[in-house]
Amino acid sequence: MSESLLADAGQRLEHALKYTSISDDAVETLKFPHTSLTVSIPVRMDNGSLKVFQGYRVRYDDTRGPGKGGVRYHPNVSLDEVQSLAFWMTFKCAALNLPFGGAKGGITVNPKELSRMELERLSRGYVDAIADFIGPDVDILAPDVYTNAMIMGWMMDQYSIIKRQICPAVVTGKPVSMGGSLGRDTATAMGAFFVIESTLPKFDRTAQTTTVAIQGFGNAGAILADLLFQAGYKVVAVSDSQGGIYAKNGLDIPSIRQFKDSCRGIKAIYCDNTVCHTAADEVLTNAELLALDVDILVPAALENQITAANAGDIKARLIYEVANGPITSAADRILNEKGIYVFPDILVNAGGVTVSYFEWVQNRSGLYWTLEEINQRLKLRIVEEAELIWSIARDLSIDLRTAAYVHSLNRLGEAISAKGTRDYYLNHH
Ligand code: NAD
Repeated sequence: MSESLLADAGQRLEHALKYTSISDDAVETLKFPHTSLTVSIPVRMDNGSLKVFQGYRVRYDDTRGPGKGGVRYHPNVSLDEVQSLAFWMTFKCAALNLPFGGAKGGITVNPKELSRMELERLSRGYVDAIADFIGPDVDILAPDVYTNAMIMGWMMDQYSIIKRQICPAVVTGKPVSMGGSLGRDTATAMGAFFVIESTLPKFDRTAQTTTVAIQGFGNAGAILADLLFQAGYKVVAVSDSQGGIYAKNGLDIPSIRQFKDSCRGIKAIYCDNTVCHTAADEVLTNAELLALDVDILVPAALENQITAANAGDIKARLIYEVANGPITSAADRILNEKGIYVFPDILVNAGGVTVSYFEWVQNRSGLYWTLEEINQRLKLRIVEEAELIWSIARDLSIDLRTAAYVHSLNRLGEAISAKGTRDYYLNHH
């Protein structure tokens, strides 16, 4: 990801603005990130040397509530990338009507090169550096690429040490034993599943008559594959970074998950002489998976997977984006021309941030919900917002991504305008 990501995000905003009547003030407000913080984090390494890492925290907009967004540890993290991700979070939180603005954080680091103790010192050092910039009512952290529940626990602990009081609501995605929410680990896949289930009847389809291919078999992709399998969908192909497997009559997802956990990867499952040998008919590449003739394609791996170069090969009728930014805006245009429906990331993968919101609510109220309550509340909210986005797309004859942005912009615009607009100041005395 690079500068082009923020530019790409900006292009989508420009396009969606054509279909809203939000005030000039709102447009002006959303042009730039509200606040961007760059910090240097000194870390004592295990070999005794001192190393300084670059870290970032960006609040893009907080009109609708405190900032909310994950922290990414990756060698490619840059201020530009963090700003782009904070932009996405702003629209995702507004799309789901969560009382949050959009934020994001990151450290430029390859965490795989650190020892566990170095990783802990880095994570606590990051919180030391940004402590004045975050808080349960200011900006709330969460996990993202290469950060997990344990790291969130360290961050919460460090913030609590600084504040001299226990502050669970400053970080979500914590271990359940430290105030984390039940269902947070499955929330993204669960949210995507609810969106698929609630929108499929619009295409006169049922689970039993629907084939699915899923790119990416990690936290989001593998759990979604399982939920779809259990509901009777024919999941014909799945893949990971090494490649994929295909079976015309559907894969046995539970056994693939079990073997993926115990062996090297999906492709190895097929190649090994195991029970999984019978699970697949064919091995295929990720490029082949994306071009399969299936009803539903789910990109659940990385950004920029469907570009102008391969969008023409896509044969799926429906795409549900579980990954963030898997389709470029140039590819969007090609898919739209082909009549392919793309359910966008800011809706489909918003189950994660929605259950993060539930975690924050539970931390602040001190009352903890059951898994059933959490999934029920998630379903209610995400299905309702999917329906609203569908109606906007239908009423304005626009694609679903633009409709999702319009939906978010309307909410953001309303909040920004509530403080007064040019018309208000010039026309009312
Ligand atoms: P993960 O690291 O658990 O899994 C990623 C999967 O993608 C792995 O199976 C990996 O092997 C596979 N992969 C990597 N490179 C690939 C390639 N070139 N082709 C095919 N597969 C490849 O990550 P995750 O948490 O499942 O996240 C996946 C996507 O979903 C990301 O874009 C992430 O931003 C998005 N997302 C995740 C969550 C969440 O709560 N986990 C929430 C919102 C969005």
